Parts: sequence; structure tokens; C-alpha cells
Amino acid sequence: MPEAPSCEGSKLIDGKRASEQLLALVTEKTRALTAQGLKPGLAVVLVGEDPASQVYVKSKSRAAQACGFHSIQHDLAAATSEAALLALVEELNADPAVDGILLQLPLPNRLDPSRVIEAISPGKDVDGLHPFNAGLLASGDLKRALVPCTPAGSMVLIDAAAAALNIDLSGAHAVVVGRSTLVGKPIAQLLLGRNATVTIAHSRTRDLPRTVANADIVVAAVGRPEMIRGAWIKPGAIVIDVGINRVAGEGLNAAGKPMTKLVGDVAFAEAISHAGAITPVPGGVGPMTIAMLMDNTLRAALMKAGLDPSF
Ligand code: NAP
Repeated sequence: MPEAPSCEGSKLIDGKRASEQLLALVTEKTRALTAQGLKPGLAVVLVGEDPASQVYVKSKSRAAQACGFHSIQHDLAAATSEAALLALVEELNADPAVDGILLQLPLPNRLDPSRVIEAISPGKDVDGLHPFNAGLLASGDLKRALVPCTPAGSMVLIDAAAAALNIDLSGAHAVVVGRSTLVGKPIAQLLLGRNATVTIAHSRTRDLPRTVANADIVVAAVGRPEMIRGAWIKPGAIVIDVGINRVAGEGLNAAGKPMTKLVGDVAFAEAISHAGAITPVPGGVGPMTIAMLMDNTLRAALMKAGLDPSF
């Protein structure tokens, strides 16, 4: 894990600044490694023409170049067969210049994401979605696991906020709302790794307000706009809002269409007066995801070379 950036002086946890600090660190380490003849490589694979995925893939490839990585992008037609996609994964698994393989999700409906993810060599699984990496994380082997980028980035922000607020994560009560494989479960494992007492809440949880009210750390990963109300938050708690929800804004844009805006799963305007520290949406967890992808690629390159991943 990279060092936790500081968020002193404000209740706002500045994910943009933290991501810039992390990217600068990755770039510096990459320069040193490249000078030793070991240039990290990231291959990004996109299937189809989903506009949002095209934007994400472009920004991932751009970040890889900015870090000094060998950067490859494969844009495949939406009609690509599973066999052809699996063949590309095999080729990238065998390519010594590639340390990380990022398969942009979601795949077109015809393709089974599990089969393709399981075909990626676990050592190159920089999205941390292969069952082998999920197993390492679940067994507490944080040194070897490649951890999914959004939870890993959230953990960096939690560490920073805890340090700034002088909160000892060991023994603190963390409530994670959401139990997805991508976010909820891995962040719960990371918090357990910090010796927090972790509750995972979900759609069947009885009395969510009371559950959240016990938390020293709240992680919201639900996908429901402003569902977690400010009054639920324990005074001084650290609040990490992973949710990204597009809702109606005010007025019309230049094209005469209704404005929209992004909000999180936490009612930010209410929660900020209760929280000790809180991530905004946008500008909180979001920017950390790409930065952690770069960090994971660097770690994968180091591990492949038999070097200490905390280099
Ligand atoms: P997901 O797979 O849909 O999981 C949502 C979780 O929320 C489920 O575990 C679900 O419970 C739980 N849930 C739904 N309604 C609930 C309710 N009323 N009370 C309590 N829990 C409830 O979503 P995800 O992939 O984890 O993503 C969650 C959010 O994070 C989304 O807004 C997504 O866009 C955002 N996200 C952001 C980033 C980033 O880079 N910032 C990355 C990934 C995701 P059940 O399991 O019981 O159904």
C-alpha cells in the first residue's frame, strides 16, 4: 500500500489531491525501475463501443503513459467471440512486456465476465477480481494480493483521515453498506486487516439507521442517491462515499436539455456537519480508482520480477 496522504485542516477528504500524490509516487518509482531495465506494462482491453467505457479506457491508458509505463490498448468489436477474447488474454498472459491486464467491464451480454477474468493470470490481474486474488485478500495476505482498485483507494483515504483525526482503526467499529465483490466485500476485508470490528450491511439489514449510527467509520457502496442521511452519522465518524449516482439537476444546459449532477450514497450536505471527515462526490473515492490501478500495475511488475512490492 502507498503512504497515506494527509487531509488536515478540513473535514473534506480530498481524493483528487490524494490521487495526484499517489500517481507522482508511482511515476517516481517507475522512473527508478525503468533505469534498472524493468519498465512496467499495462494492457487495457475494451470490447464494444459503450461510450462510458471508451472514456474510462482512454483515461486509464493516458494515466499509464503519464506514469511512464509501457501502455497497450486493445479495442475489440462488440461482436468479438469469447474464444477470440480468451485467445487475446492468453497472448497478454504470455507477453513479458505486460505486467497488468485490465479488462474493461461490463462486457457485452453475450460474454461471460467470470470465464474471461478467470483466464487472466492472477499475477497480472490488476483489477483484483480473479478468485485467486480474492482468496489472498480473504486470507489476509495483503502483501501478495492484488486488491480491487476502488476499495484499495478507499482504504488509503480512510488511513489518511484516521491519521488526521487521530483515530486508531484497531478496534474501531466500521460499517460497510453494500456487499458487492467489487467494493463492499474487499473494503470490509481491508478494514479487518486494520483490526477494525467490521459490520457488513446490505439490502436485508434490519434498522440500517441504527447500524450506521454505531459506526466510527462508514463506507457507503450502494448505488442509491443520498440514501444515508446525515442524522444517522455518529459525531466525528469518517464517512467514505463510494456511490456515484446521476440525478436531475437544476435548469437546462446549453443544448436545452435538463441538467444532471452526480451525487453519492450519502446526503453530503447533512452529513458534513456530523462527520469528522467525509469524501465528496465527485472528487472523493472516484479519482483514487485509476491511481490505484497504476499502483497495482507497478506492484504486479515488482512481484513478477521477484522484487519487494512495497519498493
Ligand atoms: P452493487 O453491486 O449494485 O451492490 C450494491 C450493494 O448495495 C448490494 O450489496 C446491495 O445489497 C446493497 N443495497 C442495495 N440497496 C440497499 C439498501 N436499501 N440498504 C442497504 N443496502 C442496499 O454496486 P457496487 O458495484 O458495489 O457499487 C456501489 C456504488 O459504488 C455504485 O453507485 C457504483 O456506481 C459506485 N462505484 C464507484 C466506483 C468509483 O470508482 N468511485 C467504483 C465502483 C462502484 P444486496 O447484496 O442485499 O442486494
